[in-house]
Parts: sequence; C-alpha cells; structure tokens
Amino acid sequence: MSEAHTRQELLRFARLCYERNLLVAMDGNLSVLLPDGNILCTKAGCHKGMLSDADLVVIDRKGTKVRGEGDPTSEMAMHLACYSARPDVRAVVHAHPPISVAFTVAGVSMARCVLPEVVLTLGTIPTLDYRTTGTGDLASLVGQHIRSHDAVLMDRHGAVCVGGDLLEAFCRLETMEHTALITKTARDMGQVQELPAQEAVHLRSMGLKRYGGPPSAVAKADDPGADLPDACLGCSGCINPTPTGLGPSTTGSRAGLRMARVTASPLMTLGDALAAAGRHIVAPDPQPSNPLEEAIVSEVLQALKDA
Ligand SMILES: [Zn+2]
Repeated sequence: MSEAHTRQELLRFARLCYERNLLVAMDGNLSVLLPDGNILCTKAGCHKGMLSDADLVVIDRKGTKVRGEGDPTSEMAMHLACYSARPDVRAVVHAHPPISVAFTVAGVSMARCVLPEVVLTLGTIPTLDYRTTGTGDLASLVGQHIRSHDAVLMDRHGAVCVGGDLLEAFCRLETMEHTALITKTARDMGQVQELPAQEAVHLRSMGLKRYGGPPSAVAKADDPGADLPDACLGCSGCINPTPTGLGPSTTGSRAGLRMARVTASPLMTLGDALAAAGRHIVAPDPQPSNPLEEAIVSEVLQALKDA
C-alpha cells in the first residue's frame, strides 16, 4: 500500500473514532507502519473529527520526527512499545471509549467471558494498573501486556488496540466498547451471566486457531484454559474477578483444580460441526400433531445429510 493511500486510511479511521464516540476533543492517537519501516501517526493536539493530512507526522522507530508539521504526541511511546513488543503489529489505535473507561473507574473488570464472539475473536480485555499518561512507565506496561493481548484498557484513561492493519485495530476498539455497552446494559437489568468456563475455553481455543491473535496466545491454544486468565475459569458467574482482570496467581489451588478438568476440543470444520449436530437431532415423531413441524424437521434433517 502506498504512503498516500495509508495517509487516507489513517484519516478515515481517526474520523470514525470521533464519529463513533470513541474519543472527543484532542483525545487519542492512531499510528500505522509505513513500507519503509517508519511510523505515520496523528500529531499532538489535533481534533480527530476534523483531521486533515497536515495533522499527520512521520516518526522513526525511536520516536524521532522524520517529516511533517507539528510534533508527535508523548503517547506515541505506547505505540512504539506495541510495535517493539510484537512484529505482527502494524497499526495501533488509542482512544478513550467512555463506557469501557467507566468500567475501570468503577473497578469492574472487562476480562470476563460474556459474549461468545468476543471470546472467539478477542479473548479477554485486561485493565492495566494506573500510570501517569504520556510516561515511559505507562508505555512499558502497555508493551508488556500487548505481548499477550490485542486490546488492553488503562485504568482511568483509555484503550490501546493493535492489529495487522488499521481496520483490524479499529474493529478491536469498536468490539471492546460494544461489549462494554452490552455488559453495562445487562448489569443495569440484573446479573451478568458468564459463559460456562468449559465453553469459554472451547471458544477461545477455536478462535485462536481460526482468527489468530498474539503469537504468545496462539501458542497456548491447546493448553488447558487456552490463554484465558484464571479469574475467568474460576469465576462462578456472579463475583467480579480482580479489577485488573489478570486473575489470581496460577499457583492458587482453586484455579488449578478447575483448570485441570477443562480440555479444549480440536477445531471443527463446518461440515464436521453440522454432522455432529445431526447426530443429536431427534427423529420426528412418527405421528406428529403438526404437519408443518414435520415438514420443517424433515427438511432440516435432509439439509444436514446433504451438508
Ligand atoms: Zn490517552
């Protein structure tokens, strides 16, 4: 992809972040690797909803400006930490998604297995301990956790999401905030019901093999518990795990015992899954009371046979 096209993409995703209410005012920053190995990023103090090409600067891998007007933001240190932590990362999006950040302010973890598709594609979202914004300390904490996660939340601050391109990093940010909205709505209505631990592990293992993720997490796809934190596997479904969501130590007997019983199943093809589903479908009643029901059941069985 040419630099001209990459610049257009960066402007597009930055504006989308503003339009989707994932940041306001001068918040947040985005960056993407250029073919020459330098990094194209949004400059300090620019409004993402009104971004223009003049708001983009190019820096090298040490953070020194190569070209462009204005200065790179101090938060670029977090981006640089992500690029050095993972060679597969080619884009970083940092924003302040309001509901996700509210979870950190309230001390409620988002490292929970609630929505199957999120477990499949993103796993759990840890909240990193508070550090002062723009510091090297925060950057190194982010880099450390991005090794094993594609999206992290920083306490009282915002999100850092990474991807192989800007679209992937942006999707992870959107998924995080959407999950926060659904979880918050469920909490408002009553209790948040977690997925059963065994199902969460099965989904996560399948997701890491199908959709990938941090290389260190993909390497754990077949491990008992995959890359899920112990807090998820030991969670009874009603008690909030630690606010950081990183879970208690693996040496804890409770988590160890629970994890020992959980084994991930190998990835199924769609055909295998349909065949397995067919085996569990009960044959229609010989004298069904409803002819329409009979027609539907026999059509489903025929479709499964043909699959
Ligand atoms: Zn920030």
